[in-house]
Amino acid sequence: MNADAARQRLEEERLRLSESLASLETDTEAQKDSLSELSTYDEHQADIGTETFEREKDLSIIESVRGELDAVDAAFARIEAGTYGSCEMCGKPIGDERLDAVPAARFCVEHQAELERT
Ligand SMILES: [Zn+2]
Repeated sequence: MNADAARQRLEEERLRLSESLASLETDTEAQKDSLSELSTYDEHQADIGTETFEREKDLSIIESVRGELDAVDAAFARIEAGTYGSCEMCGKPIGDERLDAVPAARFCVEHQAELERT
């Protein structure tokens, strides 16, 4: 994959992630508002438990989307450095097919699998 194609693919990824992050953050803001309303009523204790759980779940999704955005930024930096598309472990090409599916990929399939095992 050439640098221009990679940049374009990463821009798309960044846009997609930013949009989902924005909508997740709007959701959690809305939940926070309803949560503070609920907390003034004792009889809604059970609801608060459920809402807190939902909120924590959303927060962990937000964390992971933020992590993916960081990965996209790091991929842009690797394009500039000329190391984009090479596995950071073995230096072998990651492969266009994989880069198209995961444009911010840092490792070849083999090393990604190895990292996920540990
Ligand atoms: Zn590798």
